[in-house]
Amino acid sequence: MIARLFLALLATTVALTVQAQTTTILGTKKPEAAAETAAAGEKKPVAAGTVAAVEDESPVITPFRPANLPAAKNTRTFQLGKLNKPAATETTKELQRLFSAYAQQSIVDGSPTGFSKATGYLATINYSILQDLGDKRYLVKAAWPAAGPNDALAAGVDTMAVLLLERAVKTGETGRCTGMHVGTVSLLFTASFAPLTGKRLTLRREAFVECTTLDDAPAGLPKFIDKILRGAEVSVTTNEVIPCKKCGGLGFTSEKIKGSLSEKHINCSVCDGAKSIVLPTETKIIP
Ligand SMILES: [Zn+2]
Repeated sequence: MIARLFLALLATTVALTVQAQTTTILGTKKPEAAAETAAAGEKKPVAAGTVAAVEDESPVITPFRPANLPAAKNTRTFQLGKLNKPAATETTKELQRLFSAYAQQSIVDGSPTGFSKATGYLATINYSILQDLGDKRYLVKAAWPAAGPNDALAAGVDTMAVLLLERAVKTGETGRCTGMHVGTVSLLFTASFAPLTGKRLTLRREAFVECTTLDDAPAGLPKFIDKILRGAEVSVTTNEVIPCKKCGGLGFTSEKIKGSLSEKHINCSVCDGAKSIVLPTETKIIP
């Protein structure tokens, strides 16, 4: 419920979104207050007249490094008005492909169209709960595949991470969910699992918020088109295979042999003989 509430904020600006995601993981405490507590280390944040013994044991989560967002090296446009016109690259098949990619990069939320572009990498996460951190935040052992151009989000293999789930679960429980990477957080907590039981420590871990991706169903496409026609700025980042410019798609470059009319072929230094390169490309879909 908390996650849904915060994800509803995604409808506004990216800056607000990042803030909302961070707040989601960080819980109800103000980030500044949490940071102060972390800086103070073991010191009790004692307010006049209160007993702070219980407060001292509660986990403190502070931002450490923001999520590195999908970065495209190339941009292009896909104009809906040119769809299936002679000589246009805007075909129904290409639109379907872009919509599928968009669906995998979008999350269902409370925005007017019912969904927004995800601002971090989405990954399927297999987890087992190590410790309950409160407010549906959990320290988990998890596995997820690498995501993004050039594996910008490295894969996790039996890796500890912080996960905000949609529902409360029990320690030891295992599951699978779609998680949106929201960056690295610093977690100050008292461990309750072997061999660290009772130790107060700080871990820096990748953090994910559970979310639901947009359904890549035929019914979703008209909604997607309608959103664009009504002026929504929509773009999708995909890995495009394009011919290598350096060698002109040959896989090699030629060099004159001194004192001879013949040339020798050298493996292309850019594509290494593959003839093509993979270029993360942002396609803006416009009316
Ligand atoms: Zn090349």
